[in-house]
Amino acid sequence: MASNPENELAAVIASAQELLQWEETLGGVGFAVGRPISPTASPVGTTDVQDVRARLRVLEEEAQTCTRCELHKGRTKSVFARGIPETDLAFVGEGPGYHEDQQGLPFVGRAGQLLDRMIAAMGYERDGVYVCNVVKCRPPDNRTPLPTEAQACSHFLVPQLELVSPKAIVALGRCAAENLQVVPPAGRWRGVWGEWRGIPVMPTYHPAFLLRSPQFKKPVWEDLQAVLKVLNREAPRR
Ligand code: URA
Repeated sequence: MASNPENELAAVIASAQELLQWEETLGGVGFAVGRPISPTASPVGTTDVQDVRARLRVLEEEAQTCTRCELHKGRTKSVFARGIPETDLAFVGEGPGYHEDQQGLPFVGRAGQLLDRMIAAMGYERDGVYVCNVVKCRPPDNRTPLPTEAQACSHFLVPQLELVSPKAIVALGRCAAENLQVVPPAGRWRGVWGEWRGIPVMPTYHPAFLLRSPQFKKPVWEDLQAVLKVLNREAPRR
């Protein structure tokens, strides 16, 4: 079939505009992000919502005094989650850094600010998604959690994600992707859909890596767009 050059040109311009918006959103300071979509209400009833919240609260309280691994020794506060459980989208990072350990909330430092812009670019309110980490206590010098530590902390991560039961999970960085078991034995791991207990998982680069290597923002945006497609959502136009 003969292609229509006008349509092709329009498509190229539209995709260039979209990419430009994304670059501006991630690069800009105080960039106004337009019209966030409200979080999708969970299909479960009010009682179930309260039950999920109550169970998550119990887990969170348990994490505050957890001694399952050595990481608890350096902990100021354990870092359980932020956002809401009644959502279709969850992000899983690696582990708390300095600011997270101080405040007891995930992704509140510089990487967190970039994650906030990524969430906004997808059309969500900051707390319209669920955000947590593989480990709940800060590893010394922000090192990657050891497999034994991640295994110990799966005591929290597994029920946490099962209770939230999002329609898609974004694994932020290789550590999260490995612990959600979506890294193929060989070849590329980023941008390749996997599955965790029946939930589609998109592994992508960690925002801390993007702060050091901003040239990788484009493939990350492509990954997030693929996530939106699975969720039947569209990024808002600004
Ligand atoms: N990096 C993470 O992986 N998690 C946080 O909470 C903060 C930084």
